[in-house]
Amino acid sequence: MIGCRCAVCRSEDPRDRRTRPSILLEIGGDRASPLARAASFVLVDTSTDLRAQALAYGVERVDAILFTHSHADHIMGLDEVRRYNGLQRESIPCFGDERTLADLRRTFAYIFDPPPVAAGGIPQLSLFRIGGPFSLGGLEFVPVPIMHGTRPVLGFRVGAFAYLTDCSAIPDASWALLRGVRTLVIDALRDRPHPTHFTVADAIDASARIGAARTHLTHICHDLPHAATCARLPRGVELAYDGLRLEIA
Ligand SMILES: [Zn+2]
Ligand SMILES: [Zn+2]
Ligand SMILES: [Zn+2]
Repeated sequence: MIGCRCAVCRSEDPRDRRTRPSILLEIGGDRASPLARAASFVLVDTSTDLRAQALAYGVERVDAILFTHSHADHIMGLDEVRRYNGLQRESIPCFGDERTLADLRRTFAYIFDPPPVAAGGIPQLSLFRIGGPFSLGGLEFVPVPIMHGTRPVLGFRVGAFAYLTDCSAIPDASWALLRGVRTLVIDALRDRPHPTHFTVADAIDASARIGAARTHLTHICHDLPHAATCARLPRGVELAYDGLRLEIA
């Protein structure tokens, strides 16, 4: 946190250096065989820190972007994806719910409503409204409606993996969509209650109800030192950290 001198903000542990929440899914591909089909890369949210994240983790491709919601920490890196337009020479499809797409059009009016004579340097994006499960890279993506305070937002499920960032409640109908999830990434801002985010205890409860074998807590604030917090979490539950890689069957 800017201007904070707490133990976590001054920590030497790289896992305590947290940028904004986002994940990249690598689907398919076969690195062992140069003839095999290339992998598809699906980015979830375009965080304020997208450029730094892409440089730090060597992200060379983005084939599609999914948006959970339109809060600033999840969209403000969108302009940076024009580099991928340049590399890939095609428009990038972006998926979100109706409110998120409307907010993107308004927030990034220079992208979606550009002046007639564009000066260049504008991302080339196609917006698609999520109305139900959809297919990307040959896999089915299931949008999972969750509550973020009073605002409905989306989590996503792919196979036995689910990503539920920015969540303070899971509606009754969404539990069924999470049945069978083995690897879960879920919001756990801190221990103290917050109106729009799960606490660590809330996230542990949700993980147990879903029955996930592995759970990684995300959207963590500086109340939670990485090592000390992990030491008190139940078996199978850990804090996520920047650069964490998970193999998902
Ligand atoms: Zn701090
Ligand atoms: Zn949010
Ligand atoms: Zn957020």
